[in-house]
Amino acid sequence: MKKLPNFGDERQVGFCVHCGGPTETQDHAPSKVFLDLPYPLTRPTVPSCTICNNGFSADEEYVACFIECVVRGTTDPDILDRDKVAKALRRNGSLRGRIERAKREAETLGGGRIITWHPEEDPFRRVALKLARCHAAYELNEPQLSEPDHMLVAPLPTLNDLQREHFETPPDTGVWPEVGSRAMQRLVIADGAYSEGWVLVQDERYRYMTVGAGSIMVRGVFSEYLAYEVIWDR
Ligand SMILES: [Zn+2]
Repeated sequence: MKKLPNFGDERQVGFCVHCGGPTETQDHAPSKVFLDLPYPLTRPTVPSCTICNNGFSADEEYVACFIECVVRGTTDPDILDRDKVAKALRRNGSLRGRIERAKREAETLGGGRIITWHPEEDPFRRVALKLARCHAAYELNEPQLSEPDHMLVAPLPTLNDLQREHFETPPDTGVWPEVGSRAMQRLVIADGAYSEGWVLVQDERYRYMTVGAGSIMVRGVFSEYLAYEVIWDR
């Protein structure tokens, strides 16, 4: 994706996008744990205070590791695809145990084995909200400090065809984003990472979409497996 300057109102980005506090650091969306080497040359960055910036790390590691374990059907680091996750689970036995405990095996009617996973919901919701706040500020120049009105976190395979099509397709709002915002620039500048409303940060790892008309909506997908949607009504 291209690094786009912010031509929007600078007053909108003069505070931590998570808590309204000081702008001590730059928060990356997403953080590296969700991406593989080589990293994309540019990632969205937004102002953040140090406490918020550091405060998401444990949740992000849990979510990134959990997704990889579910996709591969195991917590065994030797079998996982993503090096970063394998290393994290080797280093952090308690994290591996936490994910292993979320795994249930059951017998199917046909006598086969089926694995189901029961994640802790809160880390997923915190990570989704963090990213939604980053993208709302970065793309739309519309930081959202309040609690969202709607939030969904779900594996893509659990959506039926209609839900999936709805999720993948940007709503046809007919309203253009704020002049100067990055979302506006993506409409008028050819950005190879921008397709059908989605911004691709890294293939197979992370993509997101923002819509700022009527309400503020952010959607994202991790590892083409886990989807989230966060909406602030206005
Ligand atoms: Zn903060």
